[in-house]
Amino acid sequence: MIQKRLMMLLVIMLLVGSSVILSPYWGDGERNSKQTGDGRYHDNRDTRDSRDFSNEPPLSAMNIKKYKIVIDAGHGAMDSGAPGNSGSYEKWFTLSVAQKTYDLLRHEAMFEPFMTRSEDTFIPLHERAVCANRLTADSFISIHGNTFTDARVSGTETYFHSIGSEGLAQKIQMQLVQALGFRDRGVKQYSWKVLQDCKGPAVLTEVGYLTNKNNEKMMLSAEGQARAAHAIVEGLKQYFSAKHAQVNQQTEMLP
Ligand SMILES: [Zn+2]
Repeated sequence: MIQKRLMMLLVIMLLVGSSVILSPYWGDGERNSKQTGDGRYHDNRDTRDSRDFSNEPPLSAMNIKKYKIVIDAGHGAMDSGAPGNSGSYEKWFTLSVAQKTYDLLRHEAMFEPFMTRSEDTFIPLHERAVCANRLTADSFISIHGNTFTDARVSGTETYFHSIGSEGLAQKIQMQLVQALGFRDRGVKQYSWKVLQDCKGPAVLTEVGYLTNKNNEKMMLSAEGQARAAHAIVEGLKQYFSAKHAQVNQQTEMLP
């Protein structure tokens, strides 16, 4: 009999004990749901154990400098640019690649992108540079398609005006050649009006020759444009990552 009573007592103690152990769990969950205070519904049971941290940026990414990038779609409106082999207009190609580049940059933590035009509008060359300067842009990328009387001429070339822009031109040229597989026509210095007035690093890339049948086919395809956009973003990432590392190194060396 005593043994039975003892057993009963033990069972009661265990039940009471377990509820004491469990209560802080739920209580804590309730506190969590109040603390958030954002009006969203939180399941208390999920608040503590199933919170997903995977989408939260790492601490190091929170303090990262955002580089302002101005993407310039060459030509626009009555200025159609170079006519392509199939009768396409350069202004359509430039706008499409610029838009894709902009969209990719928006998802990169280190960049804050802008576009000089997002529609078929005409913007004078000087104003495009003014736009970049007003934003104190960290770089200006003008996207173009090339043209030549001889349709056999093909390839990618990237221009810079100021010496300080050469490094960026190199990175973008290298990535574009790798991504599209066009002939590497190299990086060249030239005083394009649109680059002259830019204060930050500014480059103009002639992605390929619209007058060349094979280049044009790739340049007008969704895949070709996606590759070009990715290449420009990759070039920017490489350039600014190296710059960021350089600045950090210099800061560390300061007394
Ligand atoms: Zn052009």
